[in-house]
Amino acid sequence: GKINIAIDGPAGAGKSTIARRVAGLLSYVYVDTGAMYRAATWYFNQLGIEPEDEEKVLQTLPNLVIELIPGENGQRVRVNGQEATEEIRSLAVNAKVSRYAQIEGLRNRLVSLQRQMALRKGIVMDGRDIGTTVLPDAEVKIFMTASVEERARRRYKEMKEQNQITMEQLIADMSERDRLDQEREISPLRQAEDAVLLDTTNMTLEEVVESIVSMCRT
Ligand code: C5P
Repeated sequence: GKINIAIDGPAGAGKSTIARRVAGLLSYVYVDTGAMYRAATWYFNQLGIEPEDEEKVLQTLPNLVIELIPGENGQRVRVNGQEATEEIRSLAVNAKVSRYAQIEGLRNRLVSLQRQMALRKGIVMDGRDIGTTVLPDAEVKIFMTASVEERARRRYKEMKEQNQITMEQLIADMSERDRLDQEREISPLRQAEDAVLLDTTNMTLEEVVESIVSMCRT
């Protein structure tokens, strides 16, 4: 039968690319939880609501509607009916997402949506707290890492704003986001006790995909 697969790890470890491939091979559904935190960030930013203004964030939260739409050219993201696929990957969102992600009420809302999506098995979900908090009963759990240089290199390749940032800045931004994600009080970025650690620094995409798919067969 179908199972659920949880993939966690720091920024740029390759989680989303891998998770999408694994889901494709198994005919599973891919859920990108980072896109949900990014969508929320884009929404509050547009309304001029800062992450420090928790009260305002929580007041406005019931109005937030996030749609993840699978498509030919990857997943599309809509926020309250507005197309936001590109914008949620912008430097502006990168810079703020980990601060909104510390708000407990916001996390509770997104976590409950994520759990609903996983009720029917056959989900590959990636994020920071999937194995520890969102789907503690997931049958396969991966904690994916890579060296910070390799992660920055991978992120840079998929960025639209390459001319606006140097590799040094990107490493600094990513490290800061990882620090905030690891140090936050609610569901910090952690390897679950029963997760398999996968250091992908020197692995090809195919090798990583194959190793995860093989864990699902046993
Ligand atoms: O995975 P991605 O880099 O798109 O995630 C963006 C940010 O969203 C992370 O740096 C983290 O602050 C937050 N996030 C989270 N929990 C998740 C997924 C993402 O806090 N499950």
